[in-house]
Amino acid sequence: MLLGVRREPAESERRVALVPAGVEKLRDRLDVVVASGAGLTAGFDDDAYKEAGAAIGTPDEVAAADIAVGIAPEDADGAGAKPDGWSIALYNPLWDPSTVATLGEAGRSIFSLDLVPRSTKAQSMDVLSSMATIAGYEAALLGAARLPRLFPMMMTAAGTLTPARVLVLGAGVAGLQAIATARRLGAVVWGYDIRPAAAEQIRSVGAKVVEEPEISDESEDAGGYAREQTDDQGARQRALLSPHVADADVLITTAAVPGRASPLLVTGEMVAGMDRGSVVVDLAAERGGNVEPSMADEEVVHEGVVVLGPTDLPSRAAGHASEMFSNNIVNLLTHLLETADGHQPDLDDEITAAMLVAHGGAVRNERVLEALGVTGNEEEGGD
Ligand code: NAD
Repeated sequence: MLLGVRREPAESERRVALVPAGVEKLRDRLDVVVASGAGLTAGFDDDAYKEAGAAIGTPDEVAAADIAVGIAPEDADGAGAKPDGWSIALYNPLWDPSTVATLGEAGRSIFSLDLVPRSTKAQSMDVLSSMATIAGYEAALLGAARLPRLFPMMMTAAGTLTPARVLVLGAGVAGLQAIATARRLGAVVWGYDIRPAAAEQIRSVGAKVVEEPEISDESEDAGGYAREQTDDQGARQRALLSPHVADADVLITTAAVPGRASPLLVTGEMVAGMDRGSVVVDLAAERGGNVEPSMADEEVVHEGVVVLGPTDLPSRAAGHASEMFSNNIVNLLTHLLETADGHQPDLDDEITAAMLVAHGGAVRNERVLEALGVTGNEEEGGD
């Protein structure tokens, strides 16, 4: 079987889905064709791919492969894979169900990387976790670079500098990495999450916990993801967080609810309560944001506070991000190929069933069908 590695269509995307080391790992199972120049911005030239055993091809040659991988979805003109092949990318189908519905019509099996189940077995295939690790690290660096103060305490002949105060809201993979990075840079850090299990993890990476007086187990669903909050819970949460936001020099927000708009945790009024020159980095800006004034990929100055909403943080560390993405893809493909019968994915396999959004010309994932308005399965769509 031939595996095609796409060149990412967006100028701003510097990552590549498979690096040369990934080609070497897959060589026994698959022939690989890589679109010319696909890895350049991540630091991997065509020669490196050739040395690893791949062929270099045109976008059309990649699109004729049995399996095509990319980070972003293929173009709507169908440069995915063969009509009966497999396409693997971050399709974001709960947020944007119509793209997979259109692309799936050709008959390809479309596997969405955002739907890797949250299980121990699938952890090594989970690109969301890998990319969140990088985004959290980069968010802390961005906050440190933009703050007109230093992170660590310093005692110098010119006086003592007090350490920066960093508040991180949402302590999942990205939040914990942001906390750990800010701590390594010497800041004093607080963390907050609605999942009770997160408190211990916040402490374990060296931060203090903003305690929630009425925290409840219902904040977490069976899959370990946060549930959507009611309006009332949201208002109580903002009241709890207000004084902590006002005290922070850098605020980093990472709170997400899969497939839904991000919860509003910080209003414009709360941002206005921060000291002038403070910095906000909102990692949830792509889906509405956790911070009212933030805008995706824009820099907004709100009452003297710099509010950033970057959506390209993993791409800024394109080399390591691509290596991690590629390792996840190698593990995923190995699993899918071991369980499939030739081109026919094993629909009873737990990981395949969760990720396979379209197959045989139709959308087959219940939550995506619900997002399309085709079915109304509340239990599936509720988490
Ligand atoms: P995520 O990206 O879905 O959300 C980020 C964080 O925001 C989460 O911790 C969530 O609880 C929090 N959040 C959501 N709404 C909030 C609100 N209103 N207020 C405050 N916080 C809110 O989550 P994630 O980073 O992917 O992971 C969350 C947890 O799941 C982590 O403990 C992680 O280790 C675990 N996880 C496990 C696996 C696995 O077992 N394979 C894979 C990924 C993550």
